[in-house]
Amino acid sequence: MSNRRKSSVANAYPTELLRSPAWFARRARWFRKRSRLDGHLTCVGCELPATPDQLELHHLDYAGVEVIDGSWRAFERHDDLVPLHPYCHDLLHRLIDRDRVLTRPRARWAASTVALQRLREKLLRAEETR
Ligand SMILES: [Zn+2]
Ligand SMILES: [Zn+2]
Repeated sequence: MSNRRKSSVANAYPTELLRSPAWFARRARWFRKRSRLDGHLTCVGCELPATPDQLELHHLDYAGVEVIDGSWRAFERHDDLVPLHPYCHDLLHRLIDRDRVLTRPRARWAASTVALQRLREKLLRAEETR
């Protein structure tokens, strides 16, 4: 298993991958495919409708992300990326980072699922008290 390599990709990801041409192309491709599959785009956090330029993509898994000859490749599976408002995305990361169990790289998919569940409950509560 190449856990070490995976976590170094995860560490370099926010600073390098997200600024790479590969990521911009992958992001555009994701939204194109998504609109073909389903025209109703919603944030997976608050579940409100949104447009592609209002959303960021969160990685459920870094499989497919690698550096080849010094340049980033972004071949994530479609289902490994989920759309979120920057605000909801930020909350999701804070929920993951706060929890020791959720920060284990090998459990990223599970961590995101648990954190998303908590995020929705949190946003729902905020909605009710308004
Ligand atoms: Zn949202
Ligand atoms: Zn994210």
